[in-house]
Amino acid sequence: MAVTKEQVLDQLRKVNDPELHRDLVTLNMVKNVAVCEGVVSVKIELTTPACPMKDQILKDVQGAVRELGGVEEVNVEFGANVAQASPQQRAGKSNPLPGVKQIVAVGAGKGGVGKSTIAVNLAVGLAREGASVGVMDGDIYGPSLPTLLGLDAHQTRTTGGNMIVPFEVHGVKAMTIGKLVEVDKPLIWRGPMAHGAFRQLATQTDWGDLDYLIIDLPPGTGDVPLTMSQLLPLTGAVVVCTPQKVAQDDAKRAIGMFRQLEIAVLGVVENMSYFIGDDGKEYDIFGRGGAQTMAQDMGVPYLGAVPINMALRANSDKGDVTANFTDDPKLAGELENVVRNMAGQISVQALSGGYTQPTISMS
Ligand code: ADP
Repeated sequence: MAVTKEQVLDQLRKVNDPELHRDLVTLNMVKNVAVCEGVVSVKIELTTPACPMKDQILKDVQGAVRELGGVEEVNVEFGANVAQASPQQRAGKSNPLPGVKQIVAVGAGKGGVGKSTIAVNLAVGLAREGASVGVMDGDIYGPSLPTLLGLDAHQTRTTGGNMIVPFEVHGVKAMTIGKLVEVDKPLIWRGPMAHGAFRQLATQTDWGDLDYLIIDLPPGTGDVPLTMSQLLPLTGAVVVCTPQKVAQDDAKRAIGMFRQLEIAVLGVVENMSYFIGDDGKEYDIFGRGGAQTMAQDMGVPYLGAVPINMALRANSDKGDVTANFTDDPKLAGELENVVRNMAGQISVQALSGGYTQPTISMS
């Protein structure tokens, strides 16, 4: 007897999203089922184009559908629709950026650990997976985005109203205080001024519709994260940490700060994890694995490691983030791993407060 769409759907009810721990039908991820003789075609809509579990989901869907007798072929087409932060997350928060689905801060316990570098690579990495992404330099005391994104030759423009047009570079929209003030002037802000500068950057930039807005925070635990938490409904924060004990101690304070501000910690990135010498050997200069252990101790996800890499440093100085993803497959793979793990954690966080009822179209 020929397989029916209902039978296929029943099989898909047995397939759980490995991170969200609910079945694909309940999660409203099955968008289409078609059966033509022994060939079953299924369209799955992922919660992010950077889904780290895509291969697993493919295998599980094919396995489950093949359990039905008479199925000769299972074609799976993937699409993506970035999940909107859950109503619970938005509850009680003002939302000055309704067109932005997920807002994620990148913080660090102290300066120099590569926080800004990781922030721009996360943003560009998400965009390269197909998401619409903005990156905002919330580090108003020491903005790095003009250098990291190569914004020197770009002119600041307004929309005609009082909105600032973000720069479009490396596939992302970007805004930084570094393009709104004189380059070499020290940025000395009193608390209320810092608050105002952050607010203006966030709310007077014409971000349009975005799947993700990544905010590069100043290092440490100062005024800006507090302003941010009051102003924006964040999905969560990523903490960048190098492996050494002193860096871990600072990162723990940053995690503590986010918890106090009721911002979920999406995970820890271990930057400068190790170094690969010309001899091909891996050197654990700062004590590889330290940030990972710290993440475990603190009960937060570990998102992966980025090694010390000379090309990464040179590309950062040149403002060529894209080169990190195109020139060296190993470096690209390491960055993509962190990008996908973060995207997965964002989906987990976004869907943790509730999920929509299933709707399905059949053809
Ligand atoms: P932070 O934002 O934490 O102050 P930055 O992102 O500005 O740190 O990075 C500090 C310096 O370290 C920059 O010159 C950057 O290019 C370099 N850097 C960051 N991460 C790496 C890495 N994994 N490998 C090599 N250089 C790095």
